[in-house]
Amino acid sequence: MDFTHLPHPSPTPADAREKAIADPGFGTVFTDHMVLIEYEEGRGWHSASVGPREPITLDPAASVLHYAQEIFEGMKAYKHPDGSLALFRPEANARRFNASADRMAMPHLPEDVFVQSVQELVRKDADWFPAVEGGSLYLRPFMFASEAFLGVRPAKKYKYLVIASPVGNYFKSGVPAVSIWVSRDYVRAAPGGTGAAKTGGNYAASLVPQAEAIAKGHDQVVFLDAVERKWIEELGGMNLFFVMDDGSVITPPLGGTILPGITRDSLIQLLTEQGLKVREERYSIDQWRADAESGKLVETMACGTAAVVTPVGRVEGPEGAFTIGSGGPGQLTQAVREKLVGIQRGTMADTHGWVTAV
Ligand SMILES: *Cc1c(COP(=O)(O)O)cnc(C)c1O
Repeated sequence: MDFTHLPHPSPTPADAREKAIADPGFGTVFTDHMVLIEYEEGRGWHSASVGPREPITLDPAASVLHYAQEIFEGMKAYKHPDGSLALFRPEANARRFNASADRMAMPHLPEDVFVQSVQELVRKDADWFPAVEGGSLYLRPFMFASEAFLGVRPAKKYKYLVIASPVGNYFKSGVPAVSIWVSRDYVRAAPGGTGAAKTGGNYAASLVPQAEAIAKGHDQVVFLDAVERKWIEELGGMNLFFVMDDGSVITPPLGGTILPGITRDSLIQLLTEQGLKVREERYSIDQWRADAESGKLVETMACGTAAVVTPVGRVEGPEGAFTIGSGGPGQLTQAVREKLVGIQRGTMADTHGWVTAV
């Protein structure tokens, strides 16, 4: 697709940019540009541009504001030792974006256009790459219904955008083990619902249980299945892996209520290649507790693009709190994190063809 490059009337001065990217935190600093592509039924995708990042004008009746027809992706551009920028499995994000679009009755964006759009923005804003250790350029492609219409049906007009945010490490100091609250009153996704789609509504619904977790002194909330309120599903935005003392690893199976994480899929492959037996199987909250207490369970890790791989140190469930292993980062969690980060950042060989140059 041809992207029109629109001039920026007042790009951020170099000194202000350097200051902004010196310690960017997560998700608060944005680059100067954005990608915009318009969609209209009958016409398809058109008017692709890379232009100044600016507010978008919406009719107050735009369907996204009323019925939440919206999907998004989260990915990162990494800097390799030779100074080049690279994406990690961007075609997997493109595929998942269209799977989310299917569930939300939205049009597909061709996978090559998705990948190209991200590359266009990374190239345009390459000088926004943060200098900090562990830094990356976080990319947020998203699509929403922009048609002005209050009837309930799929919209006929959509906007697709990509914005970029320089980010440091998700956690300020290294890789601390997180503490997790098991949600009793709320679920994230039900069978037949939208749990496998990356859509804003799932996050809106997770904010109250997440706030409850914080109020109880924890970092994150873990959700149980909606039917039996027994099987562990995932965190608000990260998938889970349970490591046993016999070298086997369990991760909850996909099946409509869990977001199919690309980090999850990559970890399954890396752990399997390391000779570990990874089982995609249901694992209950009671078993988690019993195995942690008996020592059969030695580690638990949470994974996703933003924080990569994060150890879970403590859990507070309906029957009380328990500690995983020593409560700190476990051996396998640290090793597999280093391996994955090494591939993403180009310090370890990419034997899977996961890395795409920008
Ligand atoms: C995005 C997301 C993940 C992680 O997916 P990655 O592709 O690994 O970043 C996990 N759970 C939820 C609910 C998500 O939205």
